[in-house]
This record gives sequence, structure tokens and C-alpha cells, in this order.
Amino acid sequence: MNPKDSPNFYRSLFDNMLDGLAYGKMIFDEQGRPIDYTYLLVNKNFQRLTGLNDVEGKKVTEVMPGIAASNPDWLEIHGRVATTGKPEHFETYVAPLAGWFYLSIYSTQKGFFVTMFQNITERVESQKELEKFKLALDNISDNVIITDPEGIVVYANKAVEHVTGYKPEEAVGKKSGALWKKPMPREYYQNLWGTIKQKKVFSSEIENRRKNGELYTAVISISPILNTNGEVEFFVSIERDITQEKEVERAKNEFLSLASHQLRTPPSIISWYTEMLQSGELGPINKKQTDYLAEIYQANKRMIAIINSLLNISRIEMGTFSISAKEIDLKAIVDETVRELSSQFKRTITLKTDYDPAMGLFKADPNIMQILIDNLFSNAFKYSPPGNTQIEVTTKIKDGSLLLSVKDNGIGIPAKDQIRVFEKLFRADNAVSANPDGTGLGLYMAKKITDGVGGKIWFESGESKGATFYVSLPASGMKEKTGTTTLARIS
Ligand code: ADP
Repeated sequence: MNPKDSPNFYRSLFDNMLDGLAYGKMIFDEQGRPIDYTYLLVNKNFQRLTGLNDVEGKKVTEVMPGIAASNPDWLEIHGRVATTGKPEHFETYVAPLAGWFYLSIYSTQKGFFVTMFQNITERVESQKELEKFKLALDNISDNVIITDPEGIVVYANKAVEHVTGYKPEEAVGKKSGALWKKPMPREYYQNLWGTIKQKKVFSSEIENRRKNGELYTAVISISPILNTNGEVEFFVSIERDITQEKEVERAKNEFLSLASHQLRTPPSIISWYTEMLQSGELGPINKKQTDYLAEIYQANKRMIAIINSLLNISRIEMGTFSISAKEIDLKAIVDETVRELSSQFKRTITLKTDYDPAMGLFKADPNIMQILIDNLFSNAFKYSPPGNTQIEVTTKIKDGSLLLSVKDNGIGIPAKDQIRVFEKLFRADNAVSANPDGTGLGLYMAKKITDGVGGKIWFESGESKGATFYVSLPASGMKEKTGTTTLARIS
């Protein structure tokens, strides 16, 4: 016997299908309108995909009571196929089954039909979820670009057009580097690719070029997205156009630079006249006047220091300062600084020095060195007990670096504040009460300067345990850098 003639042949074939299958007979009213159908046969997967049991011999309105209301064309389509014999395919949400289904309906015999269907709820829902993400990505103001591991754009959000001038569809399929025309130096891109190929996040400020040729500045962060095998599947790049912020910042710095430059003249004149009065050349001055003149002189000196710090900060932030290195004697700068600070703070201190005998003259910019040393020592003075100030200074040449340390026995830096010490304008509470005359600018400036000359600055401290600040610089000295301005000595 031909296996097809066995009654079990079709049943077992249907039951082995992945799709759900239903064979039904339409019921029409007197006007020939489809009003119901009866399930004659369903396969195993019908039950699995719909969750409906024992439907054979039952009517659809019985099995899914709400179907006519939730899917008004459900019966009409089935009726149409059963009448015309023309297959139809569609996807729809079936409320009584709380799911999305894709149906193909066929008919080879008038009044009867076969439906094959798949439950596509998961796919539709993940697609909807995806659409939500896409909508969110499209509507954020930062550029979001997704590329394949070779840097070919596979997705670009709407902001890309706003910022770069390239439409998302123009960008897709191209190498991002080919679009923005790479205005940065080659090493920059080598470093970028080196970082992300090592599966690390790359973040930086970058100059890019818009489609119209204009340059813009952005902060960019590129993250590799790994698949389950830990290989790079995509790179997601988020870029924020900061051109305007940069321009505002530049204008602010320029203003600060100009203003502090102008502000330097009047206190210099005050210093000069105060010194003349103090010298007694203009007539004798009594004890009280001497004391008051000394106060004026010191306050004025502080003002000059603050103005110089502001001027330096504006120059550092504009990146315009030059470095001119020459052979300098570090010990002499330390001695002079300590001498000046001792007279300013009216203190004698115990200074312990331990200089590396291998250290001779050091190639550095004298102003920069003075700013650094002045900052470390004036902090050591400011934050140490007036009656018993002990400062230890050491230098060591090791592993190609010159390590300078300045240790004091003062109030120290509380653990909770340590992370913020190099922030602009930050002052710890214990420092504010110990000495109200700080600005919170010194260490910010020191950090920027050491970074700028290829060095490092850090500290060890604890509340009431004193503080040790370390500066490490390349032993070969500072590299010259051209610039439009020099940094000003603080005092
Ligand atoms: P300031 O003008 O306040 O001294 P700095 O930028 O030089 O500004 O220092 C920032 C803060 O770091 C200080 O206000 C203080 O809280 C802390 N600090 C710096 N040096 C010392 C030190 N030697 N001992 C204790 N605290 C210090």
C-alpha cells in the first residue's frame, strides 16, 4: 500500500509540522455571509501555539468567544478563501489568545479551508522593543553611530545629520573615517583603533569635519560591543558637539586672561609705594604705621598671587603657554621659596632636606618650577601648626624620573576629600578653618602644569597626619614648547 493511503499518514505529517495547522468547515448565514466555522482537524502544534485544547468538532466562536469582536475580519477572510480558493496571508494580533500570529489560509474545496500559522508574539514584541530604542536613539541630541568591527557604519541616528550634515542613509555602508575626513593627526586614530581593538572604551575630545567642510569639536566615546564569544560585534560611538561650549570657554578664558593682565598693574603700584613708605625715605613712621604697612604689603602680595594664579589658569586652559627650559638649581629655588614664605608667614621652620647627590642642575622652565615649588611649600606652611612647622624635602633620581617630595606635619587631608584635592576651587573644610586665605587654585594649576610637562603629581595624607606631596618629572628635563604666553611667577 502506498503510505499516503494510510489514514495515519497525514495526521503524523501534520503533527510533525512546526507550524500550527487547522482544517475547518465554514458556516455561512442565509445571505451567504461567513458567521462561524467548525474545526475538523488540528495538529499537535495547534495546541502548543494557541494553548487551546480539544477543539476538533467545536466552533471557533465557542473556542475563542471574543474573536468576532476583536478581529472583525477574521471570519470574513476565512470565508473569502473558502469561497474563492485564493490563498491569503496576514499577521494579526489575536486578543482571545493574547498573541501575534502569522496565518496562511488555503482552500482546495469550496466551503473548507486549511490554516497554517506561527505564533510570532516574541518577534513582534522584540521588534516593538527595538523600535522603542530606535525612536529613543533617533531623538537624542548626541550623535550615535554603530559600526561593524571594521568601522563601516551600520546605523546612524538623526542627530548625525544635524551635527555632521550627512543623512543617516548616506552614512550607512561607509567607513566613518571616510565621511568625517579625519582632521586629527594620524597617531590619534592609531591610538583610537588600538584602544577599541583591545576591547576597551575610547573617550576623548576630537575635531571632526562637517559635510560642508567646517570643523567642529566634540567629545566622543566609542565602546566595543562583544558577542557571547567575547569578540567585537559592533562599535557604538556617541559624540557630543561641544563647539559652542568651547567657544564660550575660549571667550571666557580670553576675558579672564585680559582682565587679570590689566589687574596686575595697580597692585604692583601699591607694592611699590608701600615699600617706599616702609623704607622711611618719606619721613619717619611709628610702630603702628609700620605694622599696618606690613599688613597692606602682605595683603597686596596675596592679591598679586591670586591674580597671577588666575592669569596662569586662563593661559593653561587656553593651551597657549610656552615652556622654555634652561638649567636650573632646584635647591636654590627651594631655599628662596622657604625664605620668602618664612618672612611672609613670620615663622621659622625646621626644614630637613635630602637631595639626591646625583642631582645636578635640572633642565626646566624656571617659572613653572617656581609655581610648583611655591604651591607645595606655601600649602605646607598654610596647613601646619604655626609654632612647630617641620617640612622635609627630598629629591631622588630613579628610573628616568626626578622625584620631588614635600612633607609637612600639618592638618592633613581628610580621606573623604582626597579625591577632590586637584579640582579647581576645591578646599577641604579643615583647610578652610585652619587658614581662610586659600583659593583652591594652586593644586589645580600644579596638576595641569605637571601633566603639561609630562610629569605626575600625587600625595599621601590622612586627617591630622600631615601630608606628603610628590612631583615626578622626566629626569631628562622639560621639553621646550612654543606658545604665545609664558606662565607668570605666583609671587
Ligand atoms: P588652597 O589655596 O586652598 O591651598 P590648593 O589648590 O593649593 O588651594 O589646595 C587645595 C586644597 O587641598 C586645600 O584647600 C586643602 O584642603 C588641601 N591641601 C593642599 N595641600 C595641603 C597640605 N599640605 N595639607 C593639608 N591640606 C592640603
